[in-house]
Amino acid sequence: MLKLDDTVSKLHLLKPEHEQALNKLGIQTVRDLLYYFPRDWQDLSEIKKISDIRPAERINIRARVKQISSPGFPFRRVKITEALLEDDSGNVVAVWFNQPYIKNSLHTGKEYYFSGKGQLYQKRGRHTLQLAHPTFEMVKTETIHTAGIIPVYQLTEGITEKQIRYWIKQALEGLSDVTDLLPQKLRTKLGLVGHSAALQNLHFPQNEILLAQAKKRLTFEELFLFQLAFQLYKKTLKNLPSPPITFNNSLVSKFVESLPFKLTPSQRLAAWEILRDISRPHPMNRLLEGEVGSGKTVVAGLSMLEVASSGYQSVMLAPTEILALQHYETLKNLFAHTEIETALLTRSHKIGSLSKITSGHTKVIVGTHALLQEKVIFNNIGLLVVDEQHRFGVKQRAKLQNTSADAVPHLLSMTATPIPRTLALAFYGDLDISILRELPRGRKKTITKLVKPEGRDIAYKFIKQELKKGQQAYIVVPLVDPSPLDKSEGQKATTEEVKKLRTIFPEFTIGMLHGRLHGEEKKQIMDDFKSGKINILVSTTVIEVGVDVGNATIMVIENAERFGLAQLHQLRGRVGRSNLQSYCLLFAENAGETTRERLEAVVNSTDGFELAEIDLRLRGSGEILGTRQSGFIPFKIASLSDTKNIELAKKEAIALLENDDLKNYPDLAAKVSDISRQAHLE
Ligand code: ADP
Ligand code: MG
Repeated sequence: MLKLDDTVSKLHLLKPEHEQALNKLGIQTVRDLLYYFPRDWQDLSEIKKISDIRPAERINIRARVKQISSPGFPFRRVKITEALLEDDSGNVVAVWFNQPYIKNSLHTGKEYYFSGKGQLYQKRGRHTLQLAHPTFEMVKTETIHTAGIIPVYQLTEGITEKQIRYWIKQALEGLSDVTDLLPQKLRTKLGLVGHSAALQNLHFPQNEILLAQAKKRLTFEELFLFQLAFQLYKKTLKNLPSPPITFNNSLVSKFVESLPFKLTPSQRLAAWEILRDISRPHPMNRLLEGEVGSGKTVVAGLSMLEVASSGYQSVMLAPTEILALQHYETLKNLFAHTEIETALLTRSHKIGSLSKITSGHTKVIVGTHALLQEKVIFNNIGLLVVDEQHRFGVKQRAKLQNTSADAVPHLLSMTATPIPRTLALAFYGDLDISILRELPRGRKKTITKLVKPEGRDIAYKFIKQELKKGQQAYIVVPLVDPSPLDKSEGQKATTEEVKKLRTIFPEFTIGMLHGRLHGEEKKQIMDDFKSGKINILVSTTVIEVGVDVGNATIMVIENAERFGLAQLHQLRGRVGRSNLQSYCLLFAENAGETTRERLEAVVNSTDGFELAEIDLRLRGSGEILGTRQSGFIPFKIASLSDTKNIELAKKEAIALLENDDLKNYPDLAAKVSDISRQAHLE
């Protein structure tokens, strides 16, 4: 009998090299394998012809591989694999991006089932229909893999679909019953199937109905567990003490009058919501959302001012050194007419003295993560402001708590990512949200254009004109593998781009910015860009958040098709920061139909919330919250756009906690506390 905690090496036909490959997918144990859910299912009961392929429609075909190739041109940083497929109705090209190992698992002359989507593709001005990244399975009569509905898994080099299916099948068959965490009462009420049956039917469904039941059950379970963790956290927070910050009306009025501009109505409302929250003796947990340039910093500044006047410190954390420096400068200016002393702490900059921070004399401290790591002793933190961090700073607060007094600081998270309500709810239970909806007046809308490969020369000519007028440009390049571990990727990409641009813009100065540069170097380059010494700044997405250079009016995004819409929108927000007309040029190489549709959305809409919703629908949630990079992907099967089930799970979680029933289900309680720990909800 297999146990859930056994390592996968116990499975039949699983060699050490397979184990290594599985580890790369995050699979160590039999449990991990069973919870490695299919990313899709292939219904092989309906096989069509190549001539039936239509754009944007999913299809299964049975075809012979005539030829396999990996053309290099024109995708410079994308690895393409192409296969020419043929059946008695005709032929079609199947295309995969960045899956070079496909070459080794497909064989010329052999017949396979392919399942994928038709896609219109423009090649040298001609539209052709191709099959976009299909999954495939060799045709054999006796195999279990091709009967009815078969699961399709995300693979990695060294493992085939067949192998992973075989191992999962074994694991399911050799397993004693898996504990069902959901209370029987709840299962009956909602008509949910048992956990073991659900697992069985998720991997190897007998039919569509059983598959749907399995999905329903596991989706609910996943959402329910997270909602339990969130709701518990919310209850805990309600009972924790935080310093009540007294509302100082005259101080606020004086501050607002000292500003060189009038606050927008939503800035006023947000400030009021925050000041109300922090006047209470329990922790505030508020997210301040606002487009780039909507003026979040001054709202945070106002709150920090109040906190200081009550005798507490405020800490503001930024994701990068550049941003920390910018916030420091902004806050210093804002507080110029006050007694408030501001300090800056990053790995490469220290302005202000540590002893004054420890003594409590310095009331406003701006820094990066380094601030948390270097064991700075604070005196009495009343407010933590976290700018642009995923998971809204919960983890950051957990770390700071130790350094401050017994009271828990209030938490204000700020983000320019418009997070749809459903997402915030799914990711955080009930987070309080303030939204800055309007941009301060006097800004011109950025003109956005989609530039196809043939339009490149004209675009460069236009950029040159603007540069000659004295404007500056950002040019952003994507990374093929945005792994935080491999920073050389960004260096390579920017260096290549600079080399190319030197021949196009020989008369201008080009600088580059990527993750491998040190704080000092980055600051130097940003300073040179700000002062106009650098005309063109080539960068990876490290400039994505917050950078503010009013004279930069051109944003070029290379391989725009590789970015999420929300991210494109955010990058676009780097320009249009003054009353000058700005332009955002999306250079797209692969003008497939869905790609064009997505990019047109950015061209046509300047509403970040709308774009986020579209992104959520088209690409899933990971891209919006950057969960892939943050390493925290809570949901395997639930969809974050599934408002109905999220609400249901929330309702049932609250009900269970209300009756204090969780203690009657020790396995469930243990699982929930695991999740809380993972999500830093403790
Ligand atoms: P973000 O929300 O992107 O962090 P910032 O706080 O950096 O935006 O503000 C962007 C710019 O707008 C800053 O230069 C700031 O001084 C200015 N600003 C903020 N609020 C207003 C306002 N109500 N009217 C005019 N300008 C404002
Ligand atoms: Mg900002």
